[in-house]
Amino acid sequence: MKCAECGSEASKSNASGMPVCSKHAKSKIKSPKCPNCNLGMVIRKSKFGAFWGCMAFPMCDGLKKI
Ligand SMILES: [Zn+2]
Ligand SMILES: [Zn+2]
Repeated sequence: MKCAECGSEASKSNASGMPVCSKHAKSKIKSPKCPNCNLGMVIRKSKFGAFWGCMAFPMCDGLKKI
């Protein structure tokens, strides 16, 4: 698991459930807006890796690459 902010080894999750290193455990990562519905996006994981998924999923399937 890599820190979503700096890419180094992640040992924790932040409040949004994103993998982060201890240095970034408290920093907020700006999440993008969904291109479909303009809601916030959250980190989701698939077998292909992590990506931004719309928080309204499964009602909205908007996604973005991290
Ligand atoms: Zn970090
Ligand atoms: Zn959406």
